[in-house]
Amino acid sequence: MSRFDKRIAIVTGAASGIGKEIATRFAAEGATPVIADLNLDAAQATADEIKAKGGDAFAVAMNVTDEDQVNKGVADVVAKYGKVDILVSNAGIQIVKPLVDFPFADWKKLLSIHLDGAFLTTRACLKYMYAANYGRVVYMGSVHSKEASKLKAPYVTAKHGLIGLAKVLAKEGAEHNVTANVVCPGFVRTPLVEKQIPEQARELGITEEQVVKTVMLKDTVDGEFTTTDDVADAVLYFAAAKSNVLTGQSLVVSHGWFMQ
Ligand code: NAD
Repeated sequence: MSRFDKRIAIVTGAASGIGKEIATRFAAEGATPVIADLNLDAAQATADEIKAKGGDAFAVAMNVTDEDQVNKGVADVVAKYGKVDILVSNAGIQIVKPLVDFPFADWKKLLSIHLDGAFLTTRACLKYMYAANYGRVVYMGSVHSKEASKLKAPYVTAKHGLIGLAKVLAKEGAEHNVTANVVCPGFVRTPLVEKQIPEQARELGITEEQVVKTVMLKDTVDGEFTTTDDVADAVLYFAAAKSNVLTGQSLVVSHGWFMQ
């Protein structure tokens, strides 16, 4: 029997990058991942890839900032499977610009996806988790939940905020056997990061190679990127927590970029 046999795990932003790897790993360990992403075609393509490898998966169109879509998506999952055991709130974007002229609309958009998205998906899942007396919630934080970088004001703000949300849920959820934790990765070469390399090079007036070496990986112990697989290991560890012994915590996986 695998760790996650018969578990239903909603993973937001799972059509790409880190979320896709997490969903794939859940399926490989017996869970049914729900691929919740903006675009149903992209979500379905990931679900189909997982099914082709012999796992189960369910695709749902969900903009995590849209209250009705989030509530409907979670209700559809419960209508189909009868429950939701695990939520990985992972959907996210990045916008890099100096604070002095950061457009307000970009600030609000980023906070909304990371923070409103985490709140709305959490709230929608909690009523079913409380009723079932079981739930494991994992938020996708970042080294930027603990540390700052230039050009990333709303991202750093939002990622710090997720730790606060997880701590509140750890306290409120405890009596219902619902835990909440945060995984904080260093740089991972997903589409989100590939897009940033030329943007940061332009903003900072340096080459793309310099962005990788002197900005992204400068403070790691070995100059290495974190991988989607490394991040999935940490998420699955929290999702497998046997009790409230592991709740309200955040774990940095970053090749030593940030040390606590
Ligand atoms: P990605 O761009 O590869 O994937 C993000 C996914 O989120 C996409 O499928 C996108 O469609 C989806 N998404 C975006 N907005 C959404 C919305 N409103 N509703 C639903 N889905 C939406 O990025 P990634 O690197 O895999 O990032 C995933 C998470 O990991 C993000 O929260 C990011 O901040 C975090 N993170 C990434 C890194 C990194 O270096 N890549 C490091 C630390 C943390």
